Amino acid sequence: MSLPAINQEYLVDFLVKLLNIPSPAGFAEPAIAFVEKELSQYKQLQLSRTRKGALVAKWEMESELPPIALTAHVDTLGAVVKEIKKNGRLKLSRIGGVEWPTVETEGVWIFASNGEKIRGSVLVETASGHIYGQAMKDTPRDDDHMEVRLDARTLSKEETRALGIKIGDCVAFDPRLEVTNGFVRSRHLDDKACVANIVSAIKSLADAGQSPTHTVYFHISNYEEVGHGASAGIPSDVAELLTVDMAVVGKGQESDEFNATLCIKDAGGVYHEGLNRRLRALAEQHGIPYKTDVYRYYASDGEAFWRAGGDVAVALIGPGIDASHNYERTHTDGLVATTNWIMAYLLSD
Ligand SMILES: [Zn+2]
Repeated sequence: MSLPAINQEYLVDFLVKLLNIPSPAGFAEPAIAFVEKELSQYKQLQLSRTRKGALVAKWEMESELPPIALTAHVDTLGAVVKEIKKNGRLKLSRIGGVEWPTVETEGVWIFASNGEKIRGSVLVETASGHIYGQAMKDTPRDDDHMEVRLDARTLSKEETRALGIKIGDCVAFDPRLEVTNGFVRSRHLDDKACVANIVSAIKSLADAGQSPTHTVYFHISNYEEVGHGASAGIPSDVAELLTVDMAVVGKGQESDEFNATLCIKDAGGVYHEGLNRRLRALAEQHGIPYKTDVYRYYASDGEAFWRAGGDVAVALIGPGIDASHNYERTHTDGLVATTNWIMAYLLSD
């Protein structure tokens, strides 16, 4: 049996739209709402929210087979305002594993609690080479030495407060998105690429008039980057959880941007051998280009569910993402491979 065709233009277009919606963990509601709206066109799906704000789309089937679930996350790295400095600039507290050198000079939006959006950029406090010379290079890139310069007239704490900015307001780093020659270069491909894969797989099946063999719960997580996204919201009668999240590309890794990867082990432990075996067999049966790999500094929402007591088989697949948690990049070949793998899994018994 062959898999339904993937509309690649749709896949990339949906991904671009999702990447352009700021959604740091804890502030991911606009991205959840966007996915919800997109999925609401499919009458096959029953949409609901968990109390934590995750989106669950249930595709109910008459089947002897137990329900299964897939998860991917729309939340990303980001920050909140930690302090308003005497010079009117902001100190930040980071959300998730942001490292300062990866965002130095990046543009940001500050979402003030009064509803205003204020533009700014991340700089080291010794940013001017003409003033600081060598000290600019030597200053540590850490919470105390990095600041946000606002594109608004302020030189004092009072003036910044008058803009409506309060401690705890959300700060989102620009994705700096470009699509060239099949490459998608952007921050936050982790894990919006995989949300696009799931949505694209649903569209391909629906457009082809096909349905999953099991009842499926698609769980769109909103707190993965802080470690507990899918720890709730997966029903207890689910037998398997396929986590769809980025694969690690770089020195010493087997993964690349043109394949999907099955992760065997990461820092959170080892995935389920039996489910892994089935996923490999499906990839081989459908000619899906894939690698297997091991990730060093990585944990997934599948493991979050396991640690929360989830009694299911868990596996992890995803497209290769270069320079992850930094200025990321992937390729449509990896996205297509992952989407095909999702469909092969949904159509299998
Ligand atoms: Zn991720």
